[in-house]
Amino acid sequence: MKIILLLLLITVFGGCASKQPYTPPSTVQGLQKEQAQLNRVWMITRKILVANTPICTQTRADYGFRALLLTERGDKEQKELWTKAFDLQHQQPTITFIIPESSADKVGLRIGDVIISVNGTKWVDTTSRNEFGALLKDAQKLEKMQLGIRRGKHETKLELIAERMCDYSFMLNISKEHKAMAQERKIIVDSGAVELLKRDDELAFFISHELAHILLGHTLPERKKEIADYKMRSVVEKDADALGIRIMVRAGYDPKGAETALQSTDLIDSGPVTNFFNFHGPYMSVPERINFLRKILSK
Ligand SMILES: [Zn+2]
Repeated sequence: MKIILLLLLITVFGGCASKQPYTPPSTVQGLQKEQAQLNRVWMITRKILVANTPICTQTRADYGFRALLLTERGDKEQKELWTKAFDLQHQQPTITFIIPESSADKVGLRIGDVIISVNGTKWVDTTSRNEFGALLKDAQKLEKMQLGIRRGKHETKLELIAERMCDYSFMLNISKEHKAMAQERKIIVDSGAVELLKRDDELAFFISHELAHILLGHTLPERKKEIADYKMRSVVEKDADALGIRIMVRAGYDPKGAETALQSTDLIDSGPVTNFFNFHGPYMSVPERINFLRKILSK
């Protein structure tokens, strides 16, 4: 019994095991790879959060772009690395990613554009880069925003209208593991899973399952003790699967992705010990779980 209990602990809480302090990549390629993974997770999470707005109690504005602005403080070498990796001109706020079909995309904002004003306040008129950064952040909470941009030698102004999406955040956890987890209002995805799961609908299943945990109240601090119980754990996992698969379908992802994601992570994560005990994660073997998901969708 002790052995089984120990195994349960390792398998059930394995996703939280990665607690090493974060060390940023030390090469341009490393930095670009990490940001590309982050952008991919964001793109999929955002699509899910926009499509499921009707079932979320809190929503927020979003424009669908990422801009990088180096802070005043920070390591000089790291700053040079970021500047090189993302071509940050004069270290001014630069667009590094655009979500296809988002309002930023539709209005013509492009990667590499330098932001020179926000709602009429010019970069050159602010006293610090942090002040401009704060203005840019605040402006993204509003329903519309005007951005002055410089592209090459040309300057122009763009009027953006926000989209609404569920107000939850996400994080990329740099880890060799292949899991995702939810903490309070945050969805956390292991970089190992991003690397392993090549199709977006596979990653979408992981993200949707975690969002379901949040929507069902499983991540509330007051329920922590209750949910740690193994029997209860199996109930909440089933509920999160049942809602999660609907969430991903509503966002337009192929539910087949859930099956291949479960199969490939099972294949890579089942070590000899878990295989020996025929123990597959928190509550169901992968074939059982796939059957359960199919049943949910056929209802
Ligand atoms: Zn779960």
